[in-house]
Amino acid sequence: MAEIRIKNVAKQFGAFTALHSVDMTIRDREFMVLLGASGCGKTTLLRIIAGLETPSQGEVWIGDRRVDKLPPRERGIAMVFQNYAVFPHLTVFENIAFGLRMAKLPQSEVDRRVKRTAELMHIEQLLKRYSGQLSGGQRQRVAVARALAMEPDVILMDEPLSNLDALLRLEMRAELKGVLAESKTTTIYVTHDQVEAMSLADRISVMNGGYIVQSADPVEVYRNPAARFVGSFIGNPPMNFLPATRAGTNQWTVAGRVVPGPNAPRDRIEFAIRPEDMRLGEDGIPATVRVVEPLGAHTLVTTDVDGSMLRALVDSDLSVAPGDHLSLVPQPDRVRWFDPETMEAVR
Ligand code: ATP
Repeated sequence: MAEIRIKNVAKQFGAFTALHSVDMTIRDREFMVLLGASGCGKTTLLRIIAGLETPSQGEVWIGDRRVDKLPPRERGIAMVFQNYAVFPHLTVFENIAFGLRMAKLPQSEVDRRVKRTAELMHIEQLLKRYSGQLSGGQRQRVAVARALAMEPDVILMDEPLSNLDALLRLEMRAELKGVLAESKTTTIYVTHDQVEAMSLADRISVMNGGYIVQSADPVEVYRNPAARFVGSFIGNPPMNFLPATRAGTNQWTVAGRVVPGPNAPRDRIEFAIRPEDMRLGEDGIPATVRVVEPLGAHTLVTTDVDGSMLRALVDSDLSVAPGDHLSLVPQPDRVRWFDPETMEAVR
């Protein structure tokens, strides 16, 4: 059982708080992605779990063992970090085999695991090369292969695909997903790439400013952001927000139209809708087109609604130009609401 429990973990660097009391559980064999903007504390949390950083408070448990006082090598974790340490004076084969040799595995097992993970990471043709002769992306794949070869209970990865070009990244992402789904490994994977997060994760924990803002499966995070930050961070382009003023019980005025909404304890809240969740039709939100960006399958239209920006993805067959007036009808079941004071969702 490699369930990971993080209890009330905080981290201060001098006067700066990088992590505020974080509580989270990563289930046995789960693929958990930590997602957030640069500086939100993802790497710090991962380093605390790995034992490379001491928490200012709190506990880390793996299964029934409390590990936060243990040195990294006693935690049963394999790691792939941004500054992937591969040994330049060793061949790719020996780099991948490194931990297996330390664990004194028989040669036949070393051969089998090195071959298998090298194939997965598409580096089998590089096994005899010295790692010092590799490109950054190739070294990164060696680091991932070395971690996978250990067949660990827990694997921690910090942006392990960041040095790969877009196509290779896409391919490696699928390979990683496949191999980790088949293994018994519990994975924590750090990224600031939301597409990578959505595609890999069983659950995503969205972080902001040292807090975990929401932990849920990818569709839930996308469809039902628990906080305004989540809606504005996830989605490309992100969610739209328009001011809403109370028109009655469960009635709100948005862009001059009265629409049904929640019974929030305020007179002003925010109406939110994703760009792909509006269509053109009668009695919609009156919007003036500012910018038109063809994206292939869709066209991204940036509009002005009473001084607020509203983006809509429309069919690329639609002929639309700056200055046009559109009527954008939100799909009712996709409308969300946020409290502008607490920044949390109002349901
Ligand atoms: P990135 O995606 O850029 O790697 P991150 O979300 O992983 O960012 P962290 O590396 O965890 O962010 O850093 C969180 C915050 O803590 C940042 O503001 C960073 O400057 C600060 N920080 C990290 N390590 C230290 C340190 N050793 N001393 C002081 N501040 C630090």
